Amino acid sequence: MKMMCNVAVSNRLGAGTTARRKPAKSCLSIGKVSSQNDQLYIILQTLQNKQGTKYKVKDNIEKVFTNFIEEGKMTIRFKEPPHDLFVQCDAIQLKSFAHIMKLGFTNKLTASVLSLADLKPKAVAIAFKTKVNIKTPENYPILEGFPRTTIELFLTGLGRRSFDRNILKLQNLRILDLSDNQITSLPKELGSLPNLQELNLAQNLIGKAPKSKWAWMDGVHISKNLKLLDLSSNEMAEIPDRLGKLSALVTLKVNTNSLQYLPQSLGRLEALKFLDVSKNELLVLPGSIRNLRLSSLNIAHNNFVTSNNCTVVKLRISSLLETAARTVLKSRMHYDASSIPFTLMTYLENTQYCVCGNACFDNYIRNPMLLPPNRCADSTVSSGYSSIPLDCYFCSLRCHRRYCG
Ligand SMILES: [Zn+2]
Repeated sequence: MKMMCNVAVSNRLGAGTTARRKPAKSCLSIGKVSSQNDQLYIILQTLQNKQGTKYKVKDNIEKVFTNFIEEGKMTIRFKEPPHDLFVQCDAIQLKSFAHIMKLGFTNKLTASVLSLADLKPKAVAIAFKTKVNIKTPENYPILEGFPRTTIELFLTGLGRRSFDRNILKLQNLRILDLSDNQITSLPKELGSLPNLQELNLAQNLIGKAPKSKWAWMDGVHISKNLKLLDLSSNEMAEIPDRLGKLSALVTLKVNTNSLQYLPQSLGRLEALKFLDVSKNELLVLPGSIRNLRLSSLNIAHNNFVTSNNCTVVKLRISSLLETAARTVLKSRMHYDASSIPFTLMTYLENTQYCVCGNACFDNYIRNPMLLPPNRCADSTVSSGYSSIPLDCYFCSLRCHRRYCG
C-alpha cells in the first residue's frame, strides 16, 4: 500500500531542536521490496530522497501512537534507525494504512498483496507531480486518474463530451483548464473543491445545459475562492442569477455567446476587475454594473438599443418572504437548497439589484439610463458606442435621487 502524506521525521538520538525535521510531502509505503526478500518494510520517500529510507517492520516497531488518528495524525516509533515518523494525512487513508501495518505485525498478510513494484524513483516523481497537461486523447489517464497532488490540470482540445469525475478527487486543484472540448454540464460537486481558483471552460457547449446544471456555483468553496471564470464561446443564451454568488471573482469572460441580457446580480461581484462581454447580442447592461469598480470592460460588438421603457415604481410594505430574504442577505450566510426553504432560495435567486448593491425584491423603481462607456470602467473597448443603455433598478427613492438626480 502506498499513501501520499506529510511526514516529519524525528531522530531520538539527535540533539536539541534540530532533531525534528519539518514536515515534508512524502510517499509512505508498506510492503516487500523484492520477491527474494520476504521481509516487510515501511519505506519513506520524498522528492529529495527518491530512493527512500527503509524501516523493517518485524520486531522493529516500538510503538504506534494512534490517539489522534481521527484527525488524520499518527506517529510510528521505530527502534532502528531510532526515528519517530509524525504522519499527517486524510483520516480514512491513514486508518487503512494502520490496519495493514497491524496485519503485517501478525503475519496475516499474503505476500502478493504487498509487492512494491512501483517504488522506482521515477514512479515517486510522477506521484508528486503538481502540474498535469494531457495533450492527446491517447495519453488520457482513463483508468488511473490524476495524481492526488495535482494543482494545475490542463485538459484542452481533447474532444471530451463530459466532465471527468476523477477531477473531483483533486483536493489541491487550483487551476482547471477544460477549454476546447464539448462539455455541456458540470457536476454540483465541483463547487466543493476546496482550492479551485481558476476555471477555464472556453469553447465548450455549456449553453446546452439545463438551468439546474448550474448548481456548482452554489458550492461554499467555489463561491469564496474562484477568481477567474472563462465561459467564452459556449453558445450561451443566458447566464443564471446565481453567478452573483461567486463573490471572489476578479476576471469574468463571457464573450462570443448569444447573450441578450446579463443578470443584475453581476453588481454583487465586488472583486470583479476584468469583464469581457464582447461579441454577444446584448440589448442593455444591468444597472448594477455601476456598483463595480472595473479596470477593464469590453462591450464591443453587441446590439445595444436605446430602450423606450418608462420608469416603473413599485414601492410597498415588505412581505414576510421579503423580510426573510433580506435577513439572509444581511447575515451574509452561505445558503443553498439544503440550508433554507426552496421558496426562499428561488426568491433570492430571482431578485434584481439596485445600483447601490442592495437587493430590490418587491420594492423598486426601475428606470432606463444611458451612460458613456468610459464611466463604466478605467479602460473600455466599446467599438464606437457613444452611450450604453443600462437597465437600472433602485431600492429606494433615496437611491433613485442619488443616481438619477
Ligand atoms: Zn439602493
